[in-house]
Amino acid sequence: FDQMQGKIWLNGEFVDWADAKIHVLTHGLHYGSCVFEGERAYGGVVFKSLQHTQRLHASANTLDFKLPYSVEEIESAKAEVLRVNNFTDAYLRPFAWRGSEMMGVSAQKNRINVAIAAWQWPSYFDPEERLKGIRLDIASYCRPDPRTAPVHAKAAGLYMICTISKHAAESKGYADAMMLDWRGRVAECTGANIFFVKDGVLHTPEPDCFLNGLTRQTVIELAEARGIEVNVRAIMPEELDGFSECFITGTAAEVTPVAEIGPYHFTPGEISKTMFEDYIAAVTPVSAPQKVAAAG
Ligand code: PMP
Repeated sequence: FDQMQGKIWLNGEFVDWADAKIHVLTHGLHYGSCVFEGERAYGGVVFKSLQHTQRLHASANTLDFKLPYSVEEIESAKAEVLRVNNFTDAYLRPFAWRGSEMMGVSAQKNRINVAIAAWQWPSYFDPEERLKGIRLDIASYCRPDPRTAPVHAKAAGLYMICTISKHAAESKGYADAMMLDWRGRVAECTGANIFFVKDGVLHTPEPDCFLNGLTRQTVIELAEARGIEVNVRAIMPEELDGFSECFITGTAAEVTPVAEIGPYHFTPGEISKTMFEDYIAAVTPVSAPQKVAAAG
C-alpha cells in the first residue's frame, strides 16, 4: 500500500498517494475518534453511493462530530476520486477523524479531517469458485450491548474486536469469524452480515447491535422481489445445525456462500446462487454492457 500510486482526496484537495500523511498525535489514532465507509464502484458507478455518504455523516454524528463537508460535497468528491484516478471498478474508502490539535479524551476543538482513497478492485464473479463456500470460525469476542458502544456507527474503534477475531480465525486456517452478540445470539462476521436458509426461507439476525449493512438491505429487497420469505429474528448458535445454506453479505464480500461455521456444515445451493446473481445484476449499471458492446 505504501508504494501505491494515484491521488487521495484530503480535506478538499488531491494529494499524491505517498503524501497523504497525518501527525502521530492524531486524536483519531489514540482515542478511536474516526468513522469510515467502504464502497464499491461497478462500471464507474458507486453502488448506493448516497446511502454510504449519509451513513458516514450519521456515524460521525454518533461520535459527536460533524463533517465539514455536506453529503453533496462528499458525493462529488467521490466521483472526482474515481475520475482523477481513472477507475471504473474500484473500492472507495471515505473516512473522517479528529485531528492532532489537542491531546486528551476531550478534543472538542480538534479539526475534523476528511479523506477519500480508492483503489482498483474488480469483482471476480466466478460462480463455480464462489459456490465452494468459505469456512468460518466462531469468535470469542462478542458484539457489544448497544449501551456499551455506538454499535450502529461505522466507527473505527468497533473494529478492534473484528481484527482480533479475524486474525484468530485466520491463524486456525479459517477465512473469517462469525461473531455472537452479548446475549449469545448469532450477530455477523467481522466485516459482513450473515444469512441462513431453511426450507426455502431466508433467516437473518435482527441488526439491533451491529451494522444493518447496505448489502444486507439490498439482499432482503431482492429476495422479497423474488417471493422468497425473509425471517428477521433472533438466531441462536445451536440452531445452525438446522440450516441448509449460509452466506455472508457486505460491500467487499458481496454475497459469499459459507460452507462451514465451526462444527456446522452447509451446502451452498440454489438460494445462495440466486441471491449472488441477483446482487451482481443489481450493482451492475444498466449502461455497463452497452459500453462494452460499443467498445467492441
Ligand atoms: N458488518 C460490518 C462489521 C462491516 O464492516 C460491514 C461492511 N461495511 C458490514 C456489516 C456490511 O455492510 P455493507 O453491506 O453496508 O458493506
